[in-house]
Amino acid sequence: MVKENLAQVEQNIQKACERAGRAREEVTLIAVGKTKPVGMLQEVYEEGVRDFGENKVQELCQKMDELPEDIRWHMIGHLQRNKVRYIVGRVALIHSVDTYRLAEEINIQAKKHGITVPILVEVNIAGEESKFGTTAEDAILLVEEISRLENVRIEGLMTIAPYVVDAEENRLYFRKIKQLSVDITSKNLHNVSMKILSMGMTGDYTVAIEEGATMVRVGTGIFGERNYDKA
Ligand SMILES: *Cc1c(COP(=O)(O)O)cnc(C)c1O
Repeated sequence: MVKENLAQVEQNIQKACERAGRAREEVTLIAVGKTKPVGMLQEVYEEGVRDFGENKVQELCQKMDELPEDIRWHMIGHLQRNKVRYIVGRVALIHSVDTYRLAEEINIQAKKHGITVPILVEVNIAGEESKFGTTAEDAILLVEEISRLENVRIEGLMTIAPYVVDAEENRLYFRKIKQLSVDITSKNLHNVSMKILSMGMTGDYTVAIEEGATMVRVGTGIFGERNYDKA
């Protein structure tokens, strides 16, 4: 089942790239296996996927220990400062940096390891109250502040678009954050790159790709519905 789902997602990604005149290689598929057993993630791994996303530190660390070492792990969920130390040096990218204080803690831990940690700044592009992320208005200021930290490197922006039935409704938000990344690029900030745009989930990743996503985070579309009851 997972294999067929993945093939379908891959086909959808390819078609979206074609429609947008983009190369398939410009878009990284991140398989989001949260709440799902490692056996299912292993199946996806065996199909060639190497980028996996999790939204909880404990689950992320457990899965890291059990799955192959060449996986690039993405922290995509809200991150508490006291948990930063468990993932710095172990994850490929932290997508969910939304405050200076959090970036500061990542910087401290990165320094301890003698490394530079790549991060994305999370933007709450639709201004939803229920969501984390800096506002579009504050994003540039936050990027400027974080850019002064020596051991973190901003690689782009991330957003979680609103939950909608019709993905077209999110197109304007994807456009808005793409424009924001262009605006930030034009500022030529030291230590800041805007090459990554992490946006698009099961319901809207094809629209996100059409609007410039370079990373899409797909859970349900690959692994099926999540069941939180037994958690
Ligand atoms: C769960 C999650 C996803 C994947 O959601 P689906 O709708 O199941 O594809 C993507 N991004 C984040 C931040 C998530 O927490």
